[in-house]
Amino acid sequence: MGERIARRLTRTVKVGKLSIGGKSPIAIQSMTNTKTSDIPSTTAQLNELINAGCEMVRLAVPDRESAKALEVYVKFSPVPIIADIHFDVDLAFRAIENGAAKVRINPGNIGGRKNLLALAEKADKYNVAIRVGINSGSLEKDLLEKYGAVTPEALVYSAIRYQEYFEDVSFGNLVFSLKASTVYTTICACRLFSETSDYPLHIGVTEAGPPARGLIKSAIGIGTLLAEGIGDTIRVSLTAHPVEEVKAAKSILQALEIRSFGPELISCPTCGRCEADLQTLTSEVEKLLKGYQLPIKVAVMGCIVNGPGEAREADIGISAGKKQGVIFCKGRVIKTVKTELLFDSFKQELKAFLEMVDPESQRGMN
Ligand code: SF4
Repeated sequence: MGERIARRLTRTVKVGKLSIGGKSPIAIQSMTNTKTSDIPSTTAQLNELINAGCEMVRLAVPDRESAKALEVYVKFSPVPIIADIHFDVDLAFRAIENGAAKVRINPGNIGGRKNLLALAEKADKYNVAIRVGINSGSLEKDLLEKYGAVTPEALVYSAIRYQEYFEDVSFGNLVFSLKASTVYTTICACRLFSETSDYPLHIGVTEAGPPARGLIKSAIGIGTLLAEGIGDTIRVSLTAHPVEEVKAAKSILQALEIRSFGPELISCPTCGRCEADLQTLTSEVEKLLKGYQLPIKVAVMGCIVNGPGEAREADIGISAGKKQGVIFCKGRVIKTVKTELLFDSFKQELKAFLEMVDPESQRGMN
């Protein structure tokens, strides 16, 4: 077994039935991009996100109709509904009254200390959490002057300032996020915050962009912090369908072996030794693994000579050659078959392997 990441211990905050921080699993969240007031479209997207494994869903609440619509989603959603509020504290009050389990605010645009304290009172009464979202774009003027730019120190100073506002009225059901316009400043700000405060951290890279650029930026930003044990809930922001964000979040958590969402597929990049159509074979194996929960490693390699050895850590794998291929377990070849029969033969071996490891795991494999 390899090294495990030592996670920074934070306090536990309840968001509906879900716990964030402490020893709770790092929660995956995303955000709908339909109009929240459009109930049919938002219901459909919420269901897509929930089915994809999203554990908290945030919805924009730009107006009263959206705040009202939350009631509908809260009723059927098995995961907590989070209201995203800007500028108007009254919308936050309405979202809370309509069942939001958490509200995300930007404290810089919600109308000052008086409104923040009124929000704390309301959230406390309804047992709702607040995410304080510190953004480089809305850093207070005095901090910009003091630090001369949006620095990690300035972002953390701002976060601690708001933490103290809430603690002054004994409200501690808080989650923080610190986001800058660059990945590195975001990383440094989150690091510094985690040394300064023990409130749970929501991590993400803001406006990361479309895939693949957004995936890379998010994997670097979120992945670096997670590898240092920092982060209690993550959102991968992509200019794409939000289900893609959930898939990416799972991949980041799985790549760091923090959580497992099913088999891990390993495939070689191919090189001049490869004599098979490895892309097609890999996507066929990927389809085959869908729906399985066991945290096994499955390899798809491009040549017989090096494949089994290079993928020695795989529980089961396949190496394709021009005329024949091999099936292997932990680097040891267990079967050699003609290339045209390789995939079917692998299917049978995988089925037998899964049955042996966990007979309950068999779902729809034929
Ligand atoms: S497994 Fe074979 S084809 Fe794939 S990268 Fe290694 S040597 Fe090249």
